[in-house]
Amino acid sequence: PDIERLGVHESVELVFPPSELAEYLSELPVDVAVVGDDGIDSCDAVVTLEHRDAFLELEWVHSIQAGVDRFPFEEFEERGVLLTNSTGIHDRWVGETVAGYLLAFARRLHRHVANQQDRQWEQPEWDDGFTLPGTTACVVGTGTLGSGVAEVLGSLGVRITGVRRSGDPAEGFEAVYASEDLNEAVADADFVIVTLPLTEETRHLFDADVFAAMRDDAYFVNVGRGPVVDEDALIDALEADALAGAALDVFETEPLPEESPLWGLEEVIVTPHCAAFTEDYHRAVGDLVRENVERFADGEAATNRVA
Ligand code: NDP
Repeated sequence: PDIERLGVHESVELVFPPSELAEYLSELPVDVAVVGDDGIDSCDAVVTLEHRDAFLELEWVHSIQAGVDRFPFEEFEERGVLLTNSTGIHDRWVGETVAGYLLAFARRLHRHVANQQDRQWEQPEWDDGFTLPGTTACVVGTGTLGSGVAEVLGSLGVRITGVRRSGDPAEGFEAVYASEDLNEAVADADFVIVTLPLTEETRHLFDADVFAAMRDDAYFVNVGRGPVVDEDALIDALEADALAGAALDVFETEPLPEESPLWGLEEVIVTPHCAAFTEDYHRAVGDLVRENVERFADGEAATNRVA
C-alpha cells in the first residue's frame, strides 16, 4: 500500500489515549492524526480497536489487539484491504496477570481483599493455602500469550503442558497435546489456562464435557476470548463445586452484565478485559506500525498480516 496519511482511530482510547500513539508515531514519513468516524475518509490507513465499515475504503487497517474476531475478514479480502494485528506483544503482560491470578488463588489474596472491603479480619483455614512449585498448568494455545504465560509461570516452578491444533512441540512446554486430545490434556492439571483466539473451531470449545474432564480441585483461567467458553456450563460447574474456581478476563458479553452470577462467586476473579493493559501498550503497537510503514516503503510484505 501507498500510505500518505495514517489515522489513529479514537476507539483505541479504551486501551490508551490516541494522542499518545499519534505523538509516538510523529517521526514517521507519513502524516499521522487522531481521527473520529468523520475523519476516516481523509486517511489511507488507520490504527484502531473497533471496526467501521468505512475502513473498507482504505488501503490498510491495523488492529491494536491480537484478536481480530471483530473484523469481517472476507470483506477485507474481497475489497483488497490489508488487515494486520498486534500479535507478538502481549506475552509478558498477560503472563504476569495470569501469574497474579494463580498466586491469588494459592495464597488466598482475593479472599483477603474481599474481606477488607467489609473491614473483616478473617483468617483462612490452615489448609486453604498452597504454593505453586510442583503444580501443573495446561495452557491451551501455545502462541504469543501461551508462551508468555508458560515463561512467567515456569519461573514460579509451575510445570507447563500445552495444547495446539497440531500437537507439535513448543518451546517452554514439557508436553504438547493436539486439540482433539483436549480432555486428556486438561485431566491432570491444577490450572487450565485458555489463550486461544476466537474462531469457528474454538467457539464454545470449553463446554460441560471439558469441565467434567477437569479435576474438581482445578482452577480455570480464560484470557483468550469469552465465546471460546460456554459460560453457562462454566457457571454450572462452579456452582456444583466441580471446579475449585476461575479467573476470567473475557466474557461472552462484555461488559459482563450486572446480573451475571460470576460477579458473586467467592472463588471467581473477574477482571474487565485488561489482562494486557500496560503503560507500554501504545509504544509496542507503534513499533509494529512503524515496522510496516518501513516495509511498505521498501516494497516488502507486511508483518502480522491476517487478511
Ligand atoms: P497467536 O496467534 O500467537 O496464538 C494463538 C495460538 O492458538 C496458536 O498457538 C495456535 O496454535 C492456537 N490455536 C488456534 N486455534 C486453535 C485450536 N482450534 N485449537 C488449539 N489451538 C489453537 O495469538 P496470541 O497469543 O497473540 O493471541 C491469542 C488470542 O488471545 C488473541 O486472538 C486474542 O483473542 C486473545 N488476547 C487477549 C488479550 C486480553 O487482553 N485478554 C490480549 C491479547 C490477546 P496452532 O496454530 O499451532 O494451532
